[in-house]
Amino acid sequence: MRDGICPKCLSTEVYSGADIAAKTNSYGMNAVPIRGGIYFSPVTAALDNYVCTSCGYVESYISDPKKLEEIAERWVKVEGSPKKP
Ligand SMILES: [Zn+2]
Repeated sequence: MRDGICPKCLSTEVYSGADIAAKTNSYGMNAVPIRGGIYFSPVTAALDNYVCTSCGYVESYISDPKKLEEIAERWVKVEGSPKKP
């Protein structure tokens, strides 16, 4: 999707919202909650969205490597998808 081609309908009508400033709003829609809790304020990761205007498909990416690290530490790993070396 980041190469400008929609993986669902193969259209090249793909638009990026990566530069939208509001994406850093922790409480907006455009973020993934990494962790929350009673004693800590919630931690979120901002998302870069890619939208295909032909079929409406949306893909989202977290661009902050530190957030990705934290997710790998805290989230439950989904097994069954071996990585190629
Ligand atoms: Zn599409």
